Amino acid sequence: MTDRRAELARNLAKVEERIAAACAAAGRPRDEVTLIVVTKTYPASDVRILSELGVRQVGENRDQDAAPKAAACADLPLEWHFIGQLQTNKVRSVVGYADFVQSVDRDRLVTALSREAVRAGREVGCLLQVALDAGASGRGERGGVAPAGIEELAGLVADAPGLRLDGLMTVAPLTGEYAGREQAAFERLVDLSTDLRRSHPTATMVSAGMSADLEQAVAAGATHVRVGSAVLGVRPRLG
Ligand SMILES: *Cc1c(COP(=O)(O)O)cnc(C)c1O
Repeated sequence: MTDRRAELARNLAKVEERIAAACAAAGRPRDEVTLIVVTKTYPASDVRILSELGVRQVGENRDQDAAPKAAACADLPLEWHFIGQLQTNKVRSVVGYADFVQSVDRDRLVTALSREAVRAGREVGCLLQVALDAGASGRGERGGVAPAGIEELAGLVADAPGLRLDGLMTVAPLTGEYAGREQAAFERLVDLSTDLRRSHPTATMVSAGMSADLEQAVAAGATHVRVGSAVLGVRPRLG
């Protein structure tokens, strides 16, 4: 076993233990929570090792980085989640490999995703990224739709050919009323998901929690956690 393989195996086991403990503490079955390993900034060789270690879901946030990596890993049984802010001029590329786009936050993006999904003959699972710190503009600092905009955007996705409305995603806000209150933020997302499922019962995914706050996400009821640095190491650059 190479050093890197041993390191990733060890980190993965630790994260797995944390998720299992958080599920046990919350009285939730372990299989209610899916781990997405965020491989951004790390090479395709790491993705390959992770796949050999049993990882099936990976997350990326920049198309320039993700597209060649996904191409290099096309033989692996992975599902790719795009989790970063997405410009419409990158949509064609992203739709080429992403099984899920978790950062759907505006009408124009829905239109572009639908057009490219149809063109590619693919169905893309969409999560609406919710900005719990959205200001008067109705959008978050780091993207995301304000809670008041969810229903309308959800309707657009649900009606768009080539797209499937799968749920909601958030990142714990650094500012506003939820700053420093990760669990409260994630509980709010779960409440919003409950509301959404009244009109869209199959939109069951709740993606919340990262390396630092996955326990709070599991406690709040998240179905998917997105964990990068706790598995791969602290990233050498921002991403
Ligand atoms: C980078 C990133 C993660 C993973 O963050 P870590 O702190 O490395 O676990 C999760 N979600 C999003 C949207 C990210 O950009």
